[in-house]
Amino acid sequence: MGHQIFFPFVACTIALLASSSLVSAEVVKHSSHIPNSARKMLACLVERFVAENDTDSILEPEKSEDSILKDLDIEGSIDYGLTTTDIASKDFGGIYAVKPLAFIRPAGADDIARVIRSALQSPTITVAARGNGHSINGQAMADHGLVIDMKSMGHNNRIDVNVASMYVDVCGGVLWTDVLKRCLGYGLAPKSWTDYLDLTVGGTLSNAGVSGQAFRFGPQTSTVMELEVVTGIGVKTVCSNSQNSELFFSVLGGLGQFGIITRARIMLQHAPDMVRWIRVVYSEFDEFTRDAELLIMSESFNYVEGFVIVNSDDPVTGWPSVPLASNQSFDPTHLPKKTGPVLYFLELALHYNKHDDSSTVNTLVEKFLRRLTFVEQLRFEIDSTYMDFLLRVNHAEQAARGSGIWDTPHPWLNMFVSKRDIAAFNRVVFQNIIKGGVNGPLLTYPLLRSKWDSRSSVVLPQSDIFYLVALLRFTHAHPKESEIKQMVAQNNEIVQTCIKNGFDFKLYLPHYESTVEWKKHFGDQWIRFVERKSQFDPKAVLAPGQKIFTRND
Ligand code: FAD
Repeated sequence: MGHQIFFPFVACTIALLASSSLVSAEVVKHSSHIPNSARKMLACLVERFVAENDTDSILEPEKSEDSILKDLDIEGSIDYGLTTTDIASKDFGGIYAVKPLAFIRPAGADDIARVIRSALQSPTITVAARGNGHSINGQAMADHGLVIDMKSMGHNNRIDVNVASMYVDVCGGVLWTDVLKRCLGYGLAPKSWTDYLDLTVGGTLSNAGVSGQAFRFGPQTSTVMELEVVTGIGVKTVCSNSQNSELFFSVLGGLGQFGIITRARIMLQHAPDMVRWIRVVYSEFDEFTRDAELLIMSESFNYVEGFVIVNSDDPVTGWPSVPLASNQSFDPTHLPKKTGPVLYFLELALHYNKHDDSSTVNTLVEKFLRRLTFVEQLRFEIDSTYMDFLLRVNHAEQAARGSGIWDTPHPWLNMFVSKRDIAAFNRVVFQNIIKGGVNGPLLTYPLLRSKWDSRSSVVLPQSDIFYLVALLRFTHAHPKESEIKQMVAQNNEIVQTCIKNGFDFKLYLPHYESTVEWKKHFGDQWIRFVERKSQFDPKAVLAPGQKIFTRND
């Protein structure tokens, strides 16, 4: 039979068989009954049929782990024989180390789809996207699974700015630092940030992405217009508010459970040149929270965050950590006579442009600050370029690397606490359990629930205003095991105290070990989360490090 006649006939037959799960791209690729020239084309056809029809027909015959790894046919590269000291086995938290079967550097989204489809051929192999590995508790790890290095999507790791429509298209493995730099070249910038920018777009969108702009624009997940995602059945799908919207909202804040984000379209705004960066100090928690809430309701400053410091001269956790420039100093004699074990400060920023009249900027700042009740003499401010302001934690990273504490363990605890309970939380946690500080920044600032889309997978406390609480602990350069254990134990004590007191709270960047705890975390959203899982990753292949679901076949 000539190829011209043979090809359409076989193609139709194979498409039919594919639809009934009887044949797969792999089978076609290795079939000796089909001429060489047609084999690859037919394999593509079946692959496309499977993807477009969103079927379960990727059910390949079950294969051993060895043969899956051997047959993994991707454009990118694969590292085998990893140890627990390889980058794919570790994260920023430094508490867990888990050895994967392989570390995969995909050339693009199609490679990722192939990896997932191969993993599905085994009853046990899992797949974890690894952004920059800045999780704390092994969330991007895959014990005996395949870890995908999202940062190395080769030439596809692009950042395309659309000036006319004010958005940027970025690959999931791109760092926010690079998004910032590229967008600023066009005088534009995303609206919502994290404090630290060497995190990947896919990594923060899988959680939420929160900083001092979130009161205005919501978390980063609220600024996404469109996603390209490879689901847990290995299908590449574009989704948005209006197209495949269930997948779109599942993936946002979805802890990597429903698909791997290979591209995100992020809204942009005009970027300012400069910011006036201000810190003002409070001794009373109720004054601090009243002012913080006033500021997030009034939308005066462009950025509002709050911190807790120890009421002492400790260089890391006390007064010296507040001034913004080396020529400024914190004079504690300005504090009221009666103060508690901790103090609070608000960190604020106002955007402006180089050509703005400085007296106009000063007038605005004074107008916004006038209503606040901070200790008047304890006010610190500097002018900074917008880029340097956004890269402030990246700059701090250099110092921490210099003193050897960036690569040591970080038993961090992040949570959202309802406004209803934040005063009690202050009494039992800030002023008691951690009154000596956490050997690193201690953040707390209010956010507005109305700026979060309830269709996303993130769960929040009930109240309209809730507080981010972040205990960003650092250990010594060569920490003893007991130091780390003590920090983890204190985190657990805080969580247990919240439960015992009936506080309305949720862990942010949550970490639980059992389904019972996850169920409690999601509360009335648990059923929706489980339904989304069965729709988009029914075999629980994805993000095993979150320990929410168990791989099934
Ligand atoms: P990883 O740790 O690599 O991955 C996190 C999870 O997302 C894993 O489950 C992984 O499988 C999954 N994942 C990764 N990439 C993808 C993808 N493309 N598609 C689907 N799933 C994926 N958070 C804030 O909100 N605000 C902050 O200000 C902030 N500051 C931080 C500062 C530092 C120094 C650090 C270490 C963390 C900070 N975080 C902050 C937390 C951070 O947002 C999360 O840890 C985030 O997950 C880290 O991104 P990553 O790219 O390293 O992701």
